[in-house]
Amino acid sequence: MGYKLVHVKGNTYYLDGAAKIGIIKNTENPFLSIVVDTGLDDDSGRRLLKTMQENGMGVGAIINTHSHADHCGGNDIIKSRTGSIIYAPPFEKGIIEYPELEPFYLYSAYPLKELDTKFLKAKGTKVDYILENGELNINGVVIDVVPLYGHTPGMVGIATADKVLFAGDSFFSKDILEKHGLPYFTGIGESVSTLESLKHMGYDYYVPSHGEALTEPGDTLDANIEVLRDAVGYIADICSRALDREEIVANMVERYSIRQNITQYYLTVSTVSAFLSHMTKEGMLTTVFEDYKLKFVRK
Ligand SMILES: [Zn+2]
Repeated sequence: MGYKLVHVKGNTYYLDGAAKIGIIKNTENPFLSIVVDTGLDDDSGRRLLKTMQENGMGVGAIINTHSHADHCGGNDIIKSRTGSIIYAPPFEKGIIEYPELEPFYLYSAYPLKELDTKFLKAKGTKVDYILENGELNINGVVIDVVPLYGHTPGMVGIATADKVLFAGDSFFSKDILEKHGLPYFTGIGESVSTLESLKHMGYDYYVPSHGEALTEPGDTLDANIEVLRDAVGYIADICSRALDREEIVANMVERYSIRQNITQYYLTVSTVSAFLSHMTKEGMLTTVFEDYKLKFVRK
């Protein structure tokens, strides 16, 4: 079964999957249209190709907003069936080409076998072109590459000539924030800057990968900023006494009612680590060795 094709504006569409897939139709040659992200796996790729075909389009170029498996897992089958060119930002390129880096960096060594899953490790594909920020012409279709760092170090958004921004995972809908409590971030200062900058970009539509397309994203962006501020405040509170990272993770899991399994645990460790480096850099926390443990304490 294919995806539902949703028209946003002009030549801009998306496929309504677990992670939205952006479509920018090439009106001169619809078989050279652009897809923004490709879903999780071969099945996502097949569904994407089927839906495109049913609507008189093909894939000339794949743009990956970032390297998470649910955004680049369909690359392999689409590229092998269409010969499309893959574009990705630097940093993300490394992980798209060597996807074993993702479970490796989450775990920080050869990972536990539970982390060897398609949700954390897509099929690797060669990236043909590194995206630079700013305007780019792909087979006659002009797009704008917009830096949206924070969720991952190199994530970008893709703006179309119809003033639609495919915003990747730079922000999440309020529903998802409520359901998941604490989304995944690798850079806290970077995420806040990105969320603030998104308020003033002036696009007609903002399409996050997880959540509804929005014309007025202000409230949703504020809700995302509030989650980050709340977590900073909470960590500052509990670190009135020195705590190691394990204890801070446990506190966060309880506060945000985070599901407990091996994958989710390492994603939470990563996000908590992002808060700890950010708050240490900002002078809110300092590090101390106590009882042979590295601990963080409020300054
Ligand atoms: Zn992501």
